[in-house]
Amino acid sequence: MLADTNAIEITKTAQSRLDQVDWENLGFGKIFSDHMAYVEYRDGQWHTPVIKPYGPMNFSPAISALHYGQAIFEGLKAYKNEQGEVLIFRPEKNAERLNISAHRMCMPSLPVETFMDMLTQLINLDSGWIPKGEGESLYIRPHMFAIDEFVGVRPSETYLFVIFTCPVGKYYTSELKVKIETNYTRATKGGTGSAKAAGNYGASLFPTQIAKDAGFDQVLWTDSQTHEYFEESGTMNVMFLSGNKVMSPAISDSILDGITRNSVLQVAKDWGYEVEERKVSVAEIVELLKAKKLDGAFGVGTAATIAPIRIIHHNGTDYEITRDQSSDFAGRMNTYLDRLKRGLEEDKHHWNHKI
Ligand SMILES: *Cc1c(COP(=O)(O)O)cnc(C)c1O
Repeated sequence: MLADTNAIEITKTAQSRLDQVDWENLGFGKIFSDHMAYVEYRDGQWHTPVIKPYGPMNFSPAISALHYGQAIFEGLKAYKNEQGEVLIFRPEKNAERLNISAHRMCMPSLPVETFMDMLTQLINLDSGWIPKGEGESLYIRPHMFAIDEFVGVRPSETYLFVIFTCPVGKYYTSELKVKIETNYTRATKGGTGSAKAAGNYGASLFPTQIAKDAGFDQVLWTDSQTHEYFEESGTMNVMFLSGNKVMSPAISDSILDGITRNSVLQVAKDWGYEVEERKVSVAEIVELLKAKKLDGAFGVGTAATIAPIRIIHHNGTDYEITRDQSSDFAGRMNTYLDRLKRGLEEDKHHWNHKI
């Protein structure tokens, strides 16, 4: 799988920071492993990838990513199995999605092999940073941004693709209290919602802050044109459970095609649930809530895997979701996927990439 390992220039750290890590308090995204990988795009091509100690990079304040927002990212996780081997969950999907985002943002595509080579060599080098406990992993953040030193709106001619990693603990979420957002939108039809573009998140902060100030954990995004159909939950995809049926808004150009969403829906099918990917209306979910027939609502994404929603607010009313089945489905799914990713369940869909 590793093409030409000599094609990456590697400078190892003189002094690992591993012994400074407080493994009991990893949190999320605040501790950085020893190394990072990057590669520069210029003159119409990607150059030699580099791995070197993690640290600040030198930029001009004029780089176009900072002004015109050509910046995209990915998020995935690596685990260790009981034999100490490294397993990365569905990384090719992230490599492919990076290129979908790149296309929408007028950025160059990165060969999947280059993504995989840089990723696997970086993770090999920093495999000591992968925590082994239940729910723990090494979070991997690949990202690409425009570095032309030029003030003018046009696609940049130069880019950096960078990967760094963070050991992360079990993602703690209490059950969420969310508000159905009927004023602001995360993404519009014809917009950039299906790209993992940095600007989408900047734009979501203000409506989320308003919701937080009003006592909610996050917003349930609805479509920009009618606000009658669900799209996502915060920075995660969303799904609903009623009886034996799992419903999730179908992927569109305003919904990010989440790998966790895809995996959870597949496992739900494997477990005998009926899975519906279609438009899911606010009206039908409110009807189910009123009839006490909604058995669960969840945010799904790499960071939390599956985050159960406890309360959905709509038009002045808080609807509480009947708990039993919801916590069961989410709990079962979380445990199963965590075990699968750590090599403790049969990997029948070949999702684990062993390095
Ligand atoms: C990243 C992301 C998701 C989840 O995608 P995963 O591949 O499951 O991590 C969902 N929605 C948005 C808006 C995202 O940025």
